[in-house]
Amino acid sequence: MSANEPAGASNFVRHIIEADLKANKNNGKVATRFPPEPNGYLHIGHAKSICLNFGIARDYKGKCNLRFDDTNPHKENVEYVEAIKQDVRWLGYDWGERLFYASDYFEQLYEFAIELINMGKAYVCDLTADQVREYRGTLTEPGKESPYRDRSIEENLQLFERMRNGEFEDGARVLRARIDMTAPNINLRDPALYRIRHGVIHHQTGEEWCIYPMYDFTHPLSDALEGITHSICTLEFEDHRPLYDWVLDNVSVTCHPQQIEFSRLNLEYTVMSKRKLTELVDAGCVEGWDDPRMPTIAGIRRRGYTPASVRDFCSRIGVSKSESTVEMGVLENCIREDLNASAPRRLAVLHPLKVVLTNYPQGRVEHLEVSNHPQDDSLGTRALPFSGEVYIDKSDFREQAPNKFKRLVSGGEVRLRNAYVIRCDEVIKDAHGEIIELHCTYDPATLGANPEGRKV
Ligand code: ATP
Ligand code: MG
Repeated sequence: MSANEPAGASNFVRHIIEADLKANKNNGKVATRFPPEPNGYLHIGHAKSICLNFGIARDYKGKCNLRFDDTNPHKENVEYVEAIKQDVRWLGYDWGERLFYASDYFEQLYEFAIELINMGKAYVCDLTADQVREYRGTLTEPGKESPYRDRSIEENLQLFERMRNGEFEDGARVLRARIDMTAPNINLRDPALYRIRHGVIHHQTGEEWCIYPMYDFTHPLSDALEGITHSICTLEFEDHRPLYDWVLDNVSVTCHPQQIEFSRLNLEYTVMSKRKLTELVDAGCVEGWDDPRMPTIAGIRRRGYTPASVRDFCSRIGVSKSESTVEMGVLENCIREDLNASAPRRLAVLHPLKVVLTNYPQGRVEHLEVSNHPQDDSLGTRALPFSGEVYIDKSDFREQAPNKFKRLVSGGEVRLRNAYVIRCDEVIKDAHGEIIELHCTYDPATLGANPEGRKV
């Protein structure tokens, strides 16, 4: 990223941070994180979150961590870890020494769970998954308390340790928070904190663990352990915020990050869920995660997008709390503008029509010096070979045309870009009346510019 790239556009998250800085909250520090789950490649929606989190760290002299949320090992692997790192780097962001994994904290999280048990705020529950669902209640009905809710602290400690030691099968027991089965917010109805998962080899911790902490328990604590000040996430986590806060308020961490939600990026015609994108890859509908048709960052990169154009896109779409869908044209305009300013020009003819210059010396080839960019001389020039046979686009010629047609017509003159003025003398057709060739003459006195008084 160039050092003089302007600071990110203002938005409500930045307003909150500016107010916090003014009030010297968090001792005037700003720390954010980008927390992908390594269960697929990053897509253009993730780019919005990356630009927001890393952009804030950059503009407020803070820090942004890259943290893999790796609590669901059977869908995760190192290929995804490496691809995610590459994509964040490609976008122009640097996490420095701050690469973390939620699994770095598994031992500490286990200790925090024991704290909760010791305070009577967590218990081991033997209900089956179906029963848990049944007991949970609905939006209109309160839940029912699990019969295992009042186990003694002693029993809970022993059972939780035995869960860790691998004595129980998958699904036989979970550790649950003991909050309130009648809470209007279903996320507070004794949510699961730990589940049992045997037989998976975790990409970071191998076979060390057979119990894994749930996202809602892991995420706030990982944030707190890293000293994150503003935990920025998408709107679907709004209803989880009371649980995020509950976890932090009930264990012995001193840091309490503030969760702020924004609306995710939706892009016209675009599937943006790793689960669905995984299906496309696994079913062989595309060549892979970096297939140029994919909305992944790797695919977009192969399609020819530049990092600057993706950052520009993320800045233009803004950050808010209202759901919306962005038009594809917005993304396309960003790359068009970036390439317009930076790309050396080349000529191509899509629907070629052969033009023979009947008075051009036979066998001669001249090399015209042509500028690589119409506005930017620093992109230099190149030698463009020119001879008695050239191609124009079929749409640039008509036998007869109204006056406002400024291209070539029978008997008319045009200037070939960077070269000469030519005149069309004869139109050659095939047996079906299709135009296959034009015979023209060129005017040697017109190379690069019109002689005085002549307008073509
Ligand atoms: P998906 O549903 O596509 O699998 P996810 O949210 O499960 O995405 P994560 O790896 O958990 O993927 O996401 C990492 C971060 O990126 C999260 O903070 C998440 O909120 C954010 N994010 C994911 N999708 C979008 C999106 N479309 N727009 C903005 N941010 C997003
Ligand atoms: Mg996720």
